Amino acid sequence: MKNIKKHYDVIIIGAGPAGLRCAEVLLKSNKKILLVERKKEIGAKICAGGLTRKSIEYLKKMNFPENLIESRFSSVIFRKGNLKTKIDFKKDFVHTISRKNLGIWQLKRIQNRQNIDIFTNASATKIDKDFVILNNKHKVTYNYLVGADGTFSSVRKFLNIETKIFGIAFQYILKNNKKYNDLELFLDSKSFFALYAWIFPHSSTVSIGSGFFPQFSSLKKSIEKFHTWTQKEDIDLNNKKVQVHPINFDYRGYNFGNIFLIGDAAGTASGFTGEGIYQALVFGEEIAKTILDKKYKSKLIPKLLRKKYLQETLLVLLIISGPFRDIVFYFIVIIVKIPWCGKTLLRLLS
Ligand SMILES: Cc1cc2nc3c(=O)[nH]c(=O)nc-3n(C[C@H](O)[C@H](O)[C@H](O)COP(=O)(O)OP(=O)(O)OC[C@H]3O[C@@H](n4cnc5c(N)ncnc54)[C@H](O)[C@@H]3O)c2cc1C
Repeated sequence: MKNIKKHYDVIIIGAGPAGLRCAEVLLKSNKKILLVERKKEIGAKICAGGLTRKSIEYLKKMNFPENLIESRFSSVIFRKGNLKTKIDFKKDFVHTISRKNLGIWQLKRIQNRQNIDIFTNASATKIDKDFVILNNKHKVTYNYLVGADGTFSSVRKFLNIETKIFGIAFQYILKNNKKYNDLELFLDSKSFFALYAWIFPHSSTVSIGSGFFPQFSSLKKSIEKFHTWTQKEDIDLNNKKVQVHPINFDYRGYNFGNIFLIGDAAGTASGFTGEGIYQALVFGEEIAKTILDKKYKSKLIPKLLRKKYLQETLLVLLIISGPFRDIVFYFIVIIVKIPWCGKTLLRLLS
């Protein structure tokens, strides 16, 4: 960590979409920023790379290059057993992207700027109220600290904020030999409890995955059920390695004096859909604006949290519906055949 300074106005821990966006917005000021990422390279992360309507619009405003969009979908297929409904949104509704490319693109926007030092292979090994220690060696002081360090956030731990509710998502990445062309969501209580399985086609690969809550199942059981389902669906997972990563959705606030939490560190992802990239970007931007202007009042954060709570209420309803869950799923797949119902459900989930 050559030439690292002893003090920065803002230290951001973690260079996922949240940390990178926060750094970009802070660069509009003359604040001295340090961004540290413990991985060797910025970008790649276990993720299905699905962006819904609002993320697409958000990234469009940032001039996200069209060529980084791997696949575009104007419709979503909901399936329960043999029942199948295709909801056509008529215009682009979901895009898939590569997380690696998103990270590289975000990084390019902040690289080689005077006010920022970016270090990879740099892990925050100790956090304190006015300093952090990096790689057990470098002590750096700060005025503001931003925890953008994902689900296992060290900054969150320092703040003594528990993570009681989180989900675990897993996926397999397969080659997509044009077999998978549609974006599909599968509902089935026995296989996926109150959650769902997804098929998210990318340009040359496809992400097929699902999730579970550790309170209700184990990784082993969930994967066994998933395999039973993939066999029925004629999806060949032979020799494929499962990728597993938790998603924190236990949101308990973001502003803790001169310390902030953003993205998965704050628990901003949706507990129901697992979507978290948009929330990470928005929190990154809004917290940067809050640091730059103490009077700044975000309009986007309350809106985003309302949607998150609405989706999680739907999830709780599905959980408590117990033995009736499959009937509810059948009902959903039937009712979304009515165009207004289909579009309303998609709006609620995206
Ligand atoms: C299987 C799966 C599928 C998903 N699919 C989707 C999807 O289709 N669409 C969607 O919107 N969301 C999806 N998500 C959720 C999404 O990946 C996350 O919500 C999103 O990555 C959160 O961004 P972030 O910047 O907050 O955290 P992250 O992307 O996790 O970034 C945090 C960064 O901090 C670094 N870090 C951690 N600790 C330290 C430390 N001590 N020092 C330095 N650096 C540190 C990490 O290495 C990491 O790079 C999925 C998640 C999973 C697990």
